[in-house]
Amino acid sequence: MKPIDVKSLTEEELTRQFADLGYPAFRARQVKSWLDKGCTSFQEMLNLPATLRSQLEERYTIPGVTILRRLDSRLDETAKYLFGLSDGETVESVLMHYHHGWSQCLSTQVGCRMGCSFCATGMGGLSRNLLPSEMLSQIETAQADKKIRVSSIVLMGMGEPFDNYENVLRFLEMLSEPGDVHIGMRHVSLSTCGLVDGIRRLMKEKLQLTLSVSLHAPNNEIRSRLMPVNRRWPVEELLEACREYIDATGRRISFEYAMIAGVNDSDACAKELARRVKGMLCHVNLIPANEVEGKQHRRSSRERLAAFSGILEKSGITVTVRRTLGADISASCGQLRRQCAKSPEKTGDMQTEVKSAERYEIYPGREE
Ligand code: SAH
Ligand code: SF4
Repeated sequence: MKPIDVKSLTEEELTRQFADLGYPAFRARQVKSWLDKGCTSFQEMLNLPATLRSQLEERYTIPGVTILRRLDSRLDETAKYLFGLSDGETVESVLMHYHHGWSQCLSTQVGCRMGCSFCATGMGGLSRNLLPSEMLSQIETAQADKKIRVSSIVLMGMGEPFDNYENVLRFLEMLSEPGDVHIGMRHVSLSTCGLVDGIRRLMKEKLQLTLSVSLHAPNNEIRSRLMPVNRRWPVEELLEACREYIDATGRRISFEYAMIAGVNDSDACAKELARRVKGMLCHVNLIPANEVEGKQHRRSSRERLAAFSGILEKSGITVTVRRTLGADISASCGQLRRQCAKSPEKTGDMQTEVKSAERYEIYPGREE
């Protein structure tokens, strides 16, 4: 039988399972309190009888992440982690410092199967979904490593959150449970490539989080070229679901728009985008696209970016340009993992390679 992830269970669920096994409820409470303290092994739960500890070890696991690499920016306090999972898989996460505190960009899947043409994460396809406890552990591990408290998170690392819906929702619930991590929903952003069924499901939960939608193009012709998901849910359907989401939650949506030279950055694109989103409770976040090894696309120039945002502003659309943090280390999400997979033994080379990769500026970061 596959061991159960004990950390992703609520106290109620654990108590029920313990009752089925003939253990009293207070044992479940004891185990929960060890887990909340960051305990990673049943053998360390010293107030449990040794026989129970061994039985628990057979039946349950305590998944978590370990730090395989940490790249520290020399420009600011940004740190990029490569985390190892218990089955040997790896995911990335970035810790950023803002005047309002520490923000962490988390992964929700190992890889991604959405295949967006500009994205490094999508290049290797999907390996597996992350468990709720593995998402939480990214925060716990970074907090313990840097001796800080993370006050906001963005689900913008590797993976498509709505392709791992149940686990992501359970993880969001865990943010308000006792333990070392306390993050209110208003300090959570979730980014999707536009899975309309996920947007419709989330709107029923009425959560106070910020929904980001990766739009990246104003029409189907360009969007379908960049993002295969658009063939399933075209721009009109996506924007309709976004309008419904805004009506249902009263929350502003953030549209992410990666500026790719000669592809989606013309004046005509800006005007079309403005027409599409006019009147919506939203803002547009322009991201100078990261150039990815093995991909053709190039980042738009500063001048293009300024002209594009100018057109949106003139049409009354709120627009921000993503700020640069950790410019010297931020190979866009998915790149560090790919580099390590290529030559795991060459730690030194990999570090130098990434540190000098100025051309991989910007992602991730967050507008202020
Ligand atoms: N799968 C989700 C969240 C993870 S990707 C999504 O697609 O929204 C997080 C953000 O990074 C998305 O807006 C995505 O489009 C963007 N992104 C991916 N690769 C990028 C690149 N090379 N340059 C700029 N933005 C990129
Ligand atoms: Fe997946 Fe998001 Fe990358 Fe698209 S941009 S491949 S959805 S991680």
